[in-house]
Amino acid sequence: MVECHRCGKVIASKNELTTALQGLKVWGYHNECYVEHLRKEPSLLFRSIRLNTHAGKIVCILAPFVGAIIAFSVMLSSLQSRPPLLIMIVWVVVFLIVIVGMPYARYRSYHHFEKPLG
Ligand SMILES: [Zn+2]
Repeated sequence: MVECHRCGKVIASKNELTTALQGLKVWGYHNECYVEHLRKEPSLLFRSIRLNTHAGKIVCILAPFVGAIIAFSVMLSSLQSRPPLLIMIVWVVVFLIVIVGMPYARYRSYHHFEKPLG
């Protein structure tokens, strides 16, 4: 059974379902509840992506590649002039979130919300 994170009522079918990131977790909403939710609490870029749409799938597939390419070029440029340790740590964390987090969010969306609604 899948419940809407906003109104708490049961989501009956895939057609009513929107999955999205809230913080570091994936939640399911009714389509209308999600629209309402975004209007009341404007969202950061990644949070406003609907994971269970084609666009969401594409973002989740491309994000790790783009993240890896940028991470690699940052690594190359940092060989020449080494940035402060703190900045390096922040970069690593950001890339880990993009590279690991987006496919993970996609997996959670499928496993916990889309599959039970079958
Ligand atoms: Zn709802």
